[in-house]
Amino acid sequence: MALLILFFYGLSVYSAYFIYHDAAARENSATLETLKTSSIYQEEATVPKVIEELDNNHANIVEQRKEESQELKSKQEEIETIVGKQSQKIAYLTFDDGPSDITPRVLDILKHYQIPATFFVIGRQVENHVETTKRIVAEGHALGNHTYSHQYRQIYSSVEAFMQDLQKAENLLDKIVQQRPSIIRAPGGTQGNFSPALVKRLLESGYIIHDWNIDARDTSAPLVSAAYIEKQVLEQAKNKDSIIVLFHDGPGKVTLPQALPAIIEGLIQEGYTFQIIDDTTKPVVLMRY
Ligand SMILES: [Zn+2]
Repeated sequence: MALLILFFYGLSVYSAYFIYHDAAARENSATLETLKTSSIYQEEATVPKVIEELDNNHANIVEQRKEESQELKSKQEEIETIVGKQSQKIAYLTFDDGPSDITPRVLDILKHYQIPATFFVIGRQVENHVETTKRIVAEGHALGNHTYSHQYRQIYSSVEAFMQDLQKAENLLDKIVQQRPSIIRAPGGTQGNFSPALVKRLLESGYIIHDWNIDARDTSAPLVSAAYIEKQVLEQAKNKDSIIVLFHDGPGKVTLPQALPAIIEGLIQEGYTFQIIDDTTKPVVLMRY
């Protein structure tokens, strides 16, 4: 019995110790919980978090502003492009005296840049370069009539002589490419070659006479350098909105294809777009009549 009493006593002391210890532990944990929920503890814990969040926000805002300004910039460029197109600078590239062995190289360059041009062809050259003539048309370029013979003494001997020579070339073009171009260019230009009587006759017959306002001066010597041609065109193009450029793609004009890419790139940079001469193009005529 005494043993039993001793056992229960011991058990109660032991339990009391555990109960006490457990209570103390619970109290500590509760204090910690209180501390954790206290504002100071929370503030201290959240400060680095808040700073991190602020940093992130700031970075986001900076990124957003960057995107917005990029967007504005591209909108601005879009507007400038539209405005630029409305006040268009137009370049009409024209090639006289072909087709020749030079012409396919010119066509390759125009194809590369996707640029249309106008070829004032000579009938005699057309006869010898039928496929090239067809290629000019097939690739979307315009044909103009530059007479059949290009022989000054013959064509400028009388109004009738000119008309016959012109119509010989016209018939040939009709046969080869089914076109009778109304746009014509005088061999050597109108100035000093065309008489008022010839102009009158041509206009009455429905032809449209085109000279140029930029001369590549590629016939100022049998062969001029590519750099010279490039300089002539780009310098004369300054401050002009509409340019009709005179080139020659006749036999042996090997420096023309050499000069052409830089000229096209220079004109593009100056804001020019390229068009063919058609019946609606305002002509440049250098002679006074
Ligand atoms: Zn010519």
